[in-house]
Amino acid sequence: MVIKSTDFKRIFCVGRNYINHAKELNNQIPKSPVIFMKPATCLVSSETKTIQRIVNEEIHYETELVLVVGREGYYTESDNIDNTIMGYSLGLDLTLRQVQRQLTEKGLPWEKSKSFDHSSPIGKIIPINSCDEIRKLEFACYVNNEKRQHGQVSNMIFSFEAILKEISRYWKLIPGDLIYTGTPEGVGILHPGDSIRIESQQTGPFEWKMG
Ligand code: ZN
Repeated sequence: MVIKSTDFKRIFCVGRNYINHAKELNNQIPKSPVIFMKPATCLVSSETKTIQRIVNEEIHYETELVLVVGREGYYTESDNIDNTIMGYSLGLDLTLRQVQRQLTEKGLPWEKSKSFDHSSPIGKIIPINSCDEIRKLEFACYVNNEKRQHGQVSNMIFSFEAILKEISRYWKLIPGDLIYTGTPEGVGILHPGDSIRIESQQTGPFEWKMG
């Protein structure tokens, strides 16, 4: 099955999936996956060179492995994950950090800080036959050629299976759903004009300039 970017339907994001990132933001380690959503209209493809800034607020990069769902249905214990995930890429879960702090302090929803236009740059989708191909993936983020993040999928708190199971408690998966699986430590500010590059050995680099 081939999925085109026009087929992307929804973006599920996992929050606090790496211990050292939860710690750097003074967040507790969650007992079950923290899930939030962004509309697919937030996506910025790897062919788009500039990430347009929509609002004049402090914007943080978060580099993440992105899974691509290839079948319809609820994922349960008895399912084979390799029949559910058909591809992956790397993506940025851009976040208005100050706005997020203000909202969380008041116990309000996150959308303004996470789900704004152009908040989800994504690389080219790489098809896979088995999730074993990416369970040990390592990825990195460079801002103006300076290394800022290094992630190892094997360090995730919640496995691919645990994430899919949690999502499936509330939503039926559909082909074209994207799952941003959380960021490792090292998040930081993107200034206007900064270049940001995310890469892994298996995907190659994806690069954007911050508008
Ligand atoms: Zn994130």
